[in-house]
Amino acid sequence: MTEPLLSIRDLCVDYITPHGPVRAVDRVSLDLHKGEILGLAGESGSGKSTLAQAIMRILPAPAVIRGGSVRFEGKDLLDLDEEGLRKVRWSRISMVFQSAMDALNPVLQVGAQIADTLCAHTGMSAEQARDRAGELLEQVGIPRTRLTSYAHQLSGGMRQRVGIALALALEPQLVILDEPTTALDVIVEREILQEIRQLQRARGFAVLFITHDLTRMLQFSDRVAVFYAARLAEAGPSAVIASKPSHPYTQGLLRAFPTLHDEPGVVRVSIPGSPPSLASAPSGCRFELRCPHAMERCRTTAPKLVTIGEGHVADCRLLD
Ligand code: ATP
Ligand code: SF4
Repeated sequence: MTEPLLSIRDLCVDYITPHGPVRAVDRVSLDLHKGEILGLAGESGSGKSTLAQAIMRILPAPAVIRGGSVRFEGKDLLDLDEEGLRKVRWSRISMVFQSAMDALNPVLQVGAQIADTLCAHTGMSAEQARDRAGELLEQVGIPRTRLTSYAHQLSGGMRQRVGIALALALEPQLVILDEPTTALDVIVEREILQEIRQLQRARGFAVLFITHDLTRMLQFSDRVAVFYAARLAEAGPSAVIASKPSHPYTQGLLRAFPTLHDEPGVVRVSIPGSPPSLASAPSGCRFELRCPHAMERCRTTAPKLVTIGEGHVADCRLLD
């Protein structure tokens, strides 16, 4: 196996609150290979966005990285100063947020916004940058004639596509998509994800994809990492996770989401209860109170990640 493009080891991130630190990412280790799509799944508040922001080093206060490493193209991003980060952000790693569509400058034509980014980071002339901006718009399904449009003249889907064109402008090796289509209707969402998939295959960049929609994630991603209460519960190839999930939480999530192959009348069952507060996480397994297989020892000792198969790991005492 070749060296991963991104290698995260034992990453810990805390939010400092008046009541003490809240650990939102707890000793997370993950690899992402060149040209691969890795999906991050998990309930709201499990730490997915915090992890993504820690990789980009754009964590807002009061978040603090407490330990671990984030190696990307051979460098630990956690060691870089502002100048080092400036060279990596957007040109090597870029990000599309759920609210990317609202982040466009309302008083600047979208073509000028893309061209400005190209001029600032490359040696392109204004004319070359405008031409390239037109190409980028076309690649995300927007006609070149829209170069002169302002954000308010575009639909939500088109604005999100402009956000994606901006993220791809400098040909990054890694694109982080943090719920990029959550605010859009399902048809536009499907179209945009198909377009990203085509661009990803053509250009070979890697993608870290965050969404609440597990069905969509399994279709779109090569591998999936499932988070529960700030920890990695299970990670593996999407086909394996879909057909043979090993962690009781992943099994519960899959029972809760509809699949493309559901027979009529299949009843989906949600996981009872809710995740523990991260401000006072239990010392044993964090899923113990909701787990149908919980044992006495699960309450007292936290599980350790166990390798089950090729690239497939899970954090459960049933497996050790
Ligand atoms: P969602 O899917 O809803 O975006 P997520 O899985 O991306 O959720 P994060 O947004 O990363 O989760 O949040 C992880 C945890 O970090 C939350 O459960 C919360 O306890 C804590 N947290 C996030 N932001 C703050 C903050 N500003 N102050 C204190 N704690 C925070
Ligand atoms: Fe359930 Fe125990 Fe596994 Fe936790 S460690 S998921 S409580 S069986």
